[in-house]
Amino acid sequence: MERKIFDLNDIVEMKKQHPCGTNAWKIIRMGADVRIKCEGCGHSVMIKRNEFAKKMKKVLVRAEP
Ligand SMILES: [Zn+2]
Repeated sequence: MERKIFDLNDIVEMKKQHPCGTNAWKIIRMGADVRIKCEGCGHSVMIKRNEFAKKMKKVLVRAEP
C-alpha cells in the first residue's frame, strides 16, 4: 500500500466529502492532531493524525515548498 504523505497547507481530498458538498480540505495545523479546513465553507475540524491518514484519500494540491 502506498504511504500517504501530507504536509502543512496541502489541499487534500477525504474519503467522505463535507456535508456542504465540497471535498477539498486545507491542512492548517500539523501535530499529534491535524486540523483541516473545508475549502467550501471554511468549517474546520481536528482529527488525530493516524485517523486523518486513514480518512484521507489523496493530496489534490501540494503546498509550495
Ligand atoms: Zn464544507
